[in-house]
Amino acid sequence: MSAVRENVWENVLAEVEQSIPREQFSTWFTGAELVSAENGAVTIGAPNVFKLNQLRARYTEVLKTALSNNGVEAREVKYVVQASTKPRIQPREKPAPILMADEVEKQESKISSLAANFQTGLNQKYTLDNFVIGSNNDLAVSVARNIVEDPGKKFNPFFLYGGPGLGKTHLVQAIGNAITQKHPKLRVYYTPISTFYSDFIKSLQHKKGDEFRQRFRKIDVLIVDDFQMIIKKDASQREFFDIFNILHQLDKQIIVTSDRLPSQIQTIDERLASRLTWGGAYDLQLPQFEDKCAILRSKAEFKGVEIEDQAIEYLAENVKTNIRDLEGEFEHLLAVADLKGMTPLQAITEGYVSTARGGQNKTATPRQVIDKVARYYQLTPKEMCSKSRVAHIKNARQVAMYLLSKELNMSTPKIALEVGVKDHTTVMHGIKKIDGDLKLNFGLRDQIAELREKIYG
Ligand code: ADP
Ligand code: MG
Repeated sequence: MSAVRENVWENVLAEVEQSIPREQFSTWFTGAELVSAENGAVTIGAPNVFKLNQLRARYTEVLKTALSNNGVEAREVKYVVQASTKPRIQPREKPAPILMADEVEKQESKISSLAANFQTGLNQKYTLDNFVIGSNNDLAVSVARNIVEDPGKKFNPFFLYGGPGLGKTHLVQAIGNAITQKHPKLRVYYTPISTFYSDFIKSLQHKKGDEFRQRFRKIDVLIVDDFQMIIKKDASQREFFDIFNILHQLDKQIIVTSDRLPSQIQTIDERLASRLTWGGAYDLQLPQFEDKCAILRSKAEFKGVEIEDQAIEYLAENVKTNIRDLEGEFEHLLAVADLKGMTPLQAITEGYVSTARGGQNKTATPRQVIDKVARYYQLTPKEMCSKSRVAHIKNARQVAMYLLSKELNMSTPKIALEVGVKDHTTVMHGIKKIDGDLKLNFGLRDQIAELREKIYG
């Protein structure tokens, strides 16, 4: 894309982002690009057919408006599939596509053992050995181990949920890898739900729908990632539901991850939603300080690098978002230290790294936090810090307490003074309430993440 076009497109995207729910935006507009705009005919590139169809069906009007607001005449909007020209910031592991019979035959002539023929979609870098067990994940890990011993028995389906970057993909891929080691005859297949969809649609286009079905029905362990991306009750969801039922009846192991509980996925068929948690729902939580230290030590050991305990503790204390960010900051620190010819701790103390993204920027004051939270919830600071028990005001107040505690490490009596509540027990109650809600409430999680960015932005 030319710089000018890229600029316009960025403005268009920013506008779209304002007008639709955030999660829809990130689901459908990631990878979308402006291909051309001439004489009122605009062409937009989508990374796959799947997104293309959604963009066309659901967002054409929104796009037209945003385009014309940015000076691009858009009488007609066309869509084409096109790989993004931008490097991806976070390269995602791309699972191998499920193979059609003729392709499999080609492969089968080369490799002899049955399991090795079957493309698993797994990335071998994810193992149970390098998944650090901590207070945030120990229950899920023990279920995982149980499944590896006895796939398809006790915990079926296994539903694993939790916020982004907390280890869902790692853990379920590790289960898949461990099963292929321990039970080499079992056919394991890993796929993000979006890939399941695009493969399904492709198979229909090539009139190979039956083959697609047949191949899925032969799977012994089906791992489906990012289930929250499921699309409204359409043919693909029905297809998945059928496959799910058949495999489940045959006691085949099904593993599903999602960033929230099925009941909070609006696009899901209710019967499917309830079945997904028949085997229970297990969550991954935010790691505590000790968990973060353990993860960093393990990463350092794996890479064979020396890093001081204090440097590890610095990162563990300051990165508050998730494990993916923790890893990112860790890599960044090692790179900077290497570049400067210093040890990691020296690089920190010399001021070469700041984990502002993770919340290190402690320059925020209690006032600023209160102002930002109030404004975010469209209240004045005075309204928010009143005695009002109106639900949304009380909620905003509790979010403010939560952020003052987590971000500024303020004591509960001090927070009580700042937000004008009776005493520190009210504050403790408020923080606990938000902590609890965060586990289940996806919207709240987004709000807090946005607020963190606003506070440090
Ligand atoms: P999610 O799928 O929940 O968004 P990922 O599984 O992609 O998260 O995890 C993000 C990163 O954090 C990955 O690089 C993963 O290896 C790492 N990670 C997460 N949890 C752990 C853990 N307990 N031990 C080691 N690494 C972890
Ligand atoms: Mg993931």
